[in-house]
Amino acid sequence: MATVAIIGGGASGLTASIYASKNHNVTIFERNSVCGKKITITGNGKCNYWNEDQNLKHYHSSNPEGLKTFFDRNIQKEVENFFTNLGIFPKIKNGYYYPYSMQATSIRNTLVKKATTNKVKINYNFLVEEIKVENQKFIINPKKEHLVFDKLILACGSMAAKKTGSDGIGYQLAKSFGHTIVKPEPTLVQLVSDAPFLQDWHGVRCESIVSLCIEEKLLHQEIGEIQLTNYGVSGICIFNMSRYVKENLRAKKKIILHIDFLPDFQNKTYKELIAWLDKRAKNLKEYSLEEMLEGILPYKLLFVILKETHRKKEEQWLKLKEAEKIALVKKLKDFTIPIIDTLDFEHAQACRGGVSLTEIDMNTMESKKIKNLYILGELLDVDGDCGGYNLGFAWMSGIKGGKNC
Ligand SMILES: Cc1cc2nc3c(=O)[nH]c(=O)nc-3n(C[C@H](O)[C@H](O)[C@H](O)COP(=O)(O)OP(=O)(O)OC[C@H]3O[C@@H](n4cnc5c(N)ncnc54)[C@H](O)[C@@H]3O)c2cc1C
Repeated sequence: MATVAIIGGGASGLTASIYASKNHNVTIFERNSVCGKKITITGNGKCNYWNEDQNLKHYHSSNPEGLKTFFDRNIQKEVENFFTNLGIFPKIKNGYYYPYSMQATSIRNTLVKKATTNKVKINYNFLVEEIKVENQKFIINPKKEHLVFDKLILACGSMAAKKTGSDGIGYQLAKSFGHTIVKPEPTLVQLVSDAPFLQDWHGVRCESIVSLCIEEKLLHQEIGEIQLTNYGVSGICIFNMSRYVKENLRAKKKIILHIDFLPDFQNKTYKELIAWLDKRAKNLKEYSLEEMLEGILPYKLLFVILKETHRKKEEQWLKLKEAEKIALVKKLKDFTIPIIDTLDFEHAQACRGGVSLTEIDMNTMESKKIKNLYILGELLDVDGDCGGYNLGFAWMSGIKGGKNC
């Protein structure tokens, strides 16, 4: 039996420990006093742990070829069996998997229980600061505890949500083994704007179609609820486009978010919408613009739209000139705001970037640089869409790494 050290008792590390302990003596080193702190805050405490739509398009990397070799039907089936065998009964909503308890702690607790049953030793409150390789052995904290292992699994997570224990130290450890780190950047994160009206629309939530345009070219479009805030825009569909922001800003490209506040009128032309508003106004003769629009838009938003089109709330729709009507409808259907940044790592649900996949055998998760070193989860240059894909990658890479070490 070989001795295996796993650095990080998060989603990928715990999963790997359960598989690796079938053949080896496994020790997890976890800096926190509990394992899986991040798991417990996922999905707003409910943990969206998997998605039935396991299409490659939901996973991203600067090395898509590496991702292609990673995916196969067997590993996906194995994740579902893994959770069934752990005793997690899924509640599936539109393809999104949650534990039936709707409590993220159920997932964390069952993983820890299974690891402990398999005799995995967990060293809590243990920060791994340095690892040396000597005579093909891995020495953990050589100047302090000096603990020696045959094999090593790095499962330290990324830099997202530092408070859960992943503060980027994993990148330093991987670098010390000669691995290349693709610049980590926050993703699944809110977008920041410097538009002048943000204070006015703060707190509004609305359904919309959002389109991210780079240099006026459409890059990504989604439909869903967004939250308008005093720094910019938030919401799941915003998170899914956030991965494209930093690199394009660095390249000095102009990023504009287009918002259609009337998603149910997607196929209507401006002319048809004006005719519809004309009809409404004729039925609501005594109504001001403010009163007429209040039945359509959240109150704070309608004021922003009136202000941006230089209209007064007392005006009446039927008295507007054609060009003024077009300007108003355009703001409803194609409201634009400049995007100047994303919020930081602390607000991000994940990181893009990480250890380059070109240096990892994506079938076994073993490093191509150092024999018996395995790297898993978000520490790698892989990020997924919202919807259970980041945990999905953590489980899948954990299974592969744990089985093959
Ligand atoms: C608010 C929030 C909500 C999310 N919601 C979802 C969701 O619903 N669905 C989804 O799929 N994904 C979600 N994610 C993303 C998901 O949680 C992560 O992708 C996943 O946890 C990554 O797993 P990991 O094992 O790679 O890293 P982590 O889970 O971050 O685990 C790394 C562990 O290593 C420990 N560690 C790090 N360095 C050291 C060291 N040097 N010594 C000792 N211990 C160390 C850390 O303390 C931590 O416990 C969410 C993330 C956040 C922040």
